[in-house]
Amino acid sequence: MTTFDAACLLVSRSQTADEGPIIRMSQRARALRAAGMDVVSMTLGEPDFDTPATIQAAATAAMQSGFTHYSPVMGIPELRAALSRKLKAENGLDYGPDDICLANGAKQAIANAILSIIGPGDEVIMLAPFWVSYEITVRFAGGTPIVLHAGIEEDYKVPAQRIAQAITPRTKLIIVNSPSNPTGAVWTRAELAALADLVKAHPQLMVMSDEIYEYIIFDGAMTSIGALPGMGERTITVNGFSKGFAMTGWRLGYAAAPAPIARAMARMQSAISAGANQFVQRAAIAALEGPRDAVEIMRQAYLRRRDQVLAGLKALPGVRIGNIPATFYAFPDVSALLGRRAGNHVIDSTETLCDWLLDEHGLATVPGSAFGAPGSLRLSFACSETEIDKALSRLRAALARLS
Ligand code: PLP
Repeated sequence: MTTFDAACLLVSRSQTADEGPIIRMSQRARALRAAGMDVVSMTLGEPDFDTPATIQAAATAAMQSGFTHYSPVMGIPELRAALSRKLKAENGLDYGPDDICLANGAKQAIANAILSIIGPGDEVIMLAPFWVSYEITVRFAGGTPIVLHAGIEEDYKVPAQRIAQAITPRTKLIIVNSPSNPTGAVWTRAELAALADLVKAHPQLMVMSDEIYEYIIFDGAMTSIGALPGMGERTITVNGFSKGFAMTGWRLGYAAAPAPIARAMARMQSAISAGANQFVQRAAIAALEGPRDAVEIMRQAYLRRRDQVLAGLKALPGVRIGNIPATFYAFPDVSALLGRRAGNHVIDSTETLCDWLLDEHGLATVPGSAFGAPGSLRLSFACSETEIDKALSRLRAALARLS
């Protein structure tokens, strides 16, 4: 009898769907903790706050009122109307309720959008450092990621002239993420206007603007590129409830797009999943239209932690960090440390550095290679000030050992 090997059935797509270092580092941190090690984890991009009580209460009430059934594929009309109002009032965007498709998280909304418009041969410009899921999804769709880099000298924002040079007749989409995971960069109105001019000069080109960190800005202001003149028809705007409202586990996000794309996204949503969770959508209306004090309290907490992390990192030799105008991530450039040694250990990459920090100093971080920027580390400061203190002193002690 032949033995059956299920691994033989796997197709290459299943390898493409690898979030790699982020998951690897958070799982290693968890395993070491379970084995009794004292580990500070700065790996996951997840608020440490619970969802505000008013939102929880709205979900409970919705459940008790019987909203436990399948929802319409695009989402319940009341939420799509509330989102249309929010996008107009807060972002200056003109999307009607029928241009908005809810999904089980912004991640799925992004997948719906990319799978709707990208196919084999299509190029997608991605601005590194970028959130890893964009690249995975573009590859899933058969598209070709074209990665452009900006470093700390450019505040991690690729200038429009360099983007212009990368556009070919096959370029269909440019992905913008402001505020950015992992750098916290916020694009100014002028920077987005320069990008918008480029897009409008090419008839086949659109932007996907991921705005999920819009409520966690400390310096500067939010600009939605889709609100710039002539950009409404050229922009897919993605957003969600996970970060600003601390609703990661609830799985609700959305994409707003010109009607034909919105309808295509709904077909993707229907084919792969179904309408997003109905009582969560009811709670999302409470999140959007109820009091926002909790959102502001969380932002203030992230701001204090941002200052704490920046002060700590700036004092470390070999570590370069600019401002962090938004989000709960620090993305220090540690390329000056590569090649140094700790005893017999050579720190030849940020992967090695991350493994060494975790194994020998109990500090879990993510290597920048996960975000297309191999000279940096990502530290999520969505954790308590005590944890941040601990993390910074571990990092200080570790780096002091390098020669
Ligand atoms: N977009 C960015 C830039 C993110 O960092 C994340 C989550 O880390 C998402 C989208 C996905 O959010 P959601 O939890 O709504 O799927």
